Amino acid sequence: MNFATVIGHDAVKQRLMNAARDKRVSHTLLFLGPEGSGNLPMALAFAQYMICENPGEKDSCGTCPACIKMAKMVHPDVTYSYPVASKEKITKPRSVDFVAQWRQAVLANPYLSYNDWMEALDLDNKQGLISVDESTDIISRLNLKAVEAPYRIIIIWLPEKLHTSAANKLLKILEEPPLDALFFLVAENYEQIMPTILSRTQLVKVGRVSDEDMFRILHEKHNLDKIAARRMVHRADGNYNEAMVLIENQEVDNDLNNRFLVWMRHCLKLNAKEISEMAGEFSSESRESQKNFLKHSLEIARECLLINYADRSLIRLEGQDLDSIQRFAPFVNLNNAEEFIHELNDAAFHIERNANSKMVFTDLSFRLYRLLQVK
Ligand SMILES: [Zn+2]
Repeated sequence: MNFATVIGHDAVKQRLMNAARDKRVSHTLLFLGPEGSGNLPMALAFAQYMICENPGEKDSCGTCPACIKMAKMVHPDVTYSYPVASKEKITKPRSVDFVAQWRQAVLANPYLSYNDWMEALDLDNKQGLISVDESTDIISRLNLKAVEAPYRIIIIWLPEKLHTSAANKLLKILEEPPLDALFFLVAENYEQIMPTILSRTQLVKVGRVSDEDMFRILHEKHNLDKIAARRMVHRADGNYNEAMVLIENQEVDNDLNNRFLVWMRHCLKLNAKEISEMAGEFSSESRESQKNFLKHSLEIARECLLINYADRSLIRLEGQDLDSIQRFAPFVNLNNAEEFIHELNDAAFHIERNANSKMVFTDLSFRLYRLLQVK
């Protein structure tokens, strides 16, 4: 993972890179930030930078053997400790016993939360801990020489979960680590870390993701339109992990409903200028997001039919969403519904085959204008 893939926090990144270039990196760093802030991605990116064979001004190179191994989390000189618990035959659990799950989970989502990790381990509600056996393992790792990199880096995720005996066992090594060893502690709650550990670390504060950076990533990478992205920024409150959960659970539908209604209003009145603007916005999004919007529009059209003609129990919309769609529902009736649905499907078909989306959207809007007049 390189710095470019860590969302925002440019000043923190720059400070870390400067320290690395000036060779004044403290042996024990504490990457402190709330859930979803990117404290783990930041530590991973910095580890990669430290062992990269050609580190640049702004990032690790991404192409040297060390970077490539870091990208897969298989570099022999970068090891990890994280909370685990006993499971089946593993009665004295250490991190290494779960390394395959760890790599898979972090590579899939480096912003993962403690709860996400516990779910991935499938431990029947057991609590994860970093035990004294893990501390013994960490010390034994330090008895080995670095194999490939100039440093051996040990990333301890959630030192809050260090058992007291485990923490005590690490104190000496944190105080006087071997010269080529670096400890990156990655924590969320300052108050829950033992003071004896804290006093041995240098703080790298990774705050919540700023609203500006969150907006950019939601709009550009996740293809949320500007209104939806702005709402999501408020709901996620600097927690990128939370934003992704909301997106995965389709919690942005509400905004797609609004967008659909705004679009229909313009179609009904044949507001050419607004339709053209919406077409421009639509075409600037990814094909996936364009298809998603058309698919959602289809679902609303079906809901309208249910509202107009079917048993209320079949309607999926509820609350405010239902209220707003209900007012539009009469415009989709038995005399135009079939063609309405056909036009939306047809547009999705053309988008799928790389047609000019701006033209498809404009053309579709004019066809819908005609259909919406049918009583
Ligand atoms: Zn590199």
